[in-house]
Amino acid sequence: MHVLLAASELHPFSKTGGLADAVAALGLAVSQAGFRVTVITPLYRGIQAKYPEIRPMGWPFDLRVGPELVSGQFHRLDPSPGLSIWFVEQSGFFDRRGLYNEGQRDYPDNAQRFLFLSKAAMLAARYHPEPPSLIHCHDWQLGLLPLLVHHARVTGSWPDAPRTVFTIHNLAYQGVFPVESWQYTNLPWSWFHLESAAHHGRLNFLKGALYLADALTTVSPRYAQEICTSEYGCGLEGVLRRREHDLTGILNGVDYSEWNTNANPALNHAYDAQHLAGKGANKASLQVEMGLPVDPEIPLFGNISRLTDQKGCDLIADALEELLPRTPLQFVLLGSGDPVLEARFRELAKRFPENVAVKIGFDARLAHRIEAGTDFYLMPSRFEPCGLNQMYSLRYGSIPIVRHTGGLADSVIDPRDDADRANGIHFQEPTAEALEWAIQKAVVLYRDPVAIHHFRVNGMSADLSWSKQAADYLRLYRDVLHGP
Ligand code: ADP
Repeated sequence: MHVLLAASELHPFSKTGGLADAVAALGLAVSQAGFRVTVITPLYRGIQAKYPEIRPMGWPFDLRVGPELVSGQFHRLDPSPGLSIWFVEQSGFFDRRGLYNEGQRDYPDNAQRFLFLSKAAMLAARYHPEPPSLIHCHDWQLGLLPLLVHHARVTGSWPDAPRTVFTIHNLAYQGVFPVESWQYTNLPWSWFHLESAAHHGRLNFLKGALYLADALTTVSPRYAQEICTSEYGCGLEGVLRRREHDLTGILNGVDYSEWNTNANPALNHAYDAQHLAGKGANKASLQVEMGLPVDPEIPLFGNISRLTDQKGCDLIADALEELLPRTPLQFVLLGSGDPVLEARFRELAKRFPENVAVKIGFDARLAHRIEAGTDFYLMPSRFEPCGLNQMYSLRYGSIPIVRHTGGLADSVIDPRDDADRANGIHFQEPTAEALEWAIQKAVVLYRDPVAIHHFRVNGMSADLSWSKQAADYLRLYRDVLHGP
């Protein structure tokens, strides 16, 4: 079987969040299971310079995007047996400072950019010397690809077009554009209706996939249930309920070759569940690096995030303001996003220089050191499709404190659910009070070295690898192709 994956981000070439990690790890795991995998993704600015081994394929093409004929070409990299990455070069669309936006402003031509990517993926699938039997598309940027493929299949222009699978990594981002953007699909207007991509008088990329992909997945079993409700469905719960039987939740995994505590060049000290001394040494190094007093006795909490409403970082700031004057703890934050939240955390660091350290920005290596150096990891998300950082924390022995939602509830075990296997702390309500309660619980736990060791070793030895999840995807691919 040959599977074509299409995504707007791919680690280590481009990344704004968990999508990049998930697609890279899935591609690798499926190819390691013996299948051929081709990944289609944009050639963004800087990728070619950083990876000179990426070579043009000598396959220039022109694609219609509305009235324009837009030229592009594929560049290729074969990082491991069975796995090829085809980068789509279109400098006008992808040679820019950001992936989707600059500052807080989305690029005004995102509809054209990602329709171009979708059409390039379709071209690659159609004319590949060994055509894929399945196209697996990810998130709203590729939301209209299942619709384009379905159109080609039913109108007879591509009768043996592959089946399509679409994965929702985050339902909150839907790719919503004015109706006029439909022209960039170059499909007839009769295909723009409520059971395709029309939604409240606008074009909705994600909705197109929800109706027209052959199968739908999302990134945790609990989120698959949640998004069929009005509380989490972001206005698309009606469509999702209609397709409930075609929707599967498969938890993302962790790429342990990347996220490991031994032989990791980003870390100052190696350690693992059997040799935990290095964990303490990483804590001291992190305290130095972030300008906090070095103190093994004080519990150190961390967070690495896009600073958005989803991640509940405002709850962290509220809870810290309440707790810090009377509770001995330290907190480090690495993140960027909402300027109001950025300012709020900078202010907290100024007010509590002995307790709070903040780095605004994106720093992949520091992310590893925070996971390794902290005792607890805070993830108070209002909703969380899967979440990767709580899983990285488990692996790095930083005990996650999570809201009981989505993939957080599916991956972290609270002692009230299973005392023997407990590896984290859950709290229910998305409020600062509930988070405060959980942080206080952690502070108490920290005074009990036996309990901390139990939680830590449970987390570090949990199997969150991709091999199990890849088997679930392969089963799904077979069901889509041959029926359950
Ligand atoms: P989401 O995809 O919703 O942002 P996830 O937890 O699924 O959240 O994945 C986030 C990924 O992005 C993790 O790999 C995390 O370490 C990384 N990340 C987020 N913000 C930063 C940052 N400021 N610096 C470095 N890595 C970051």
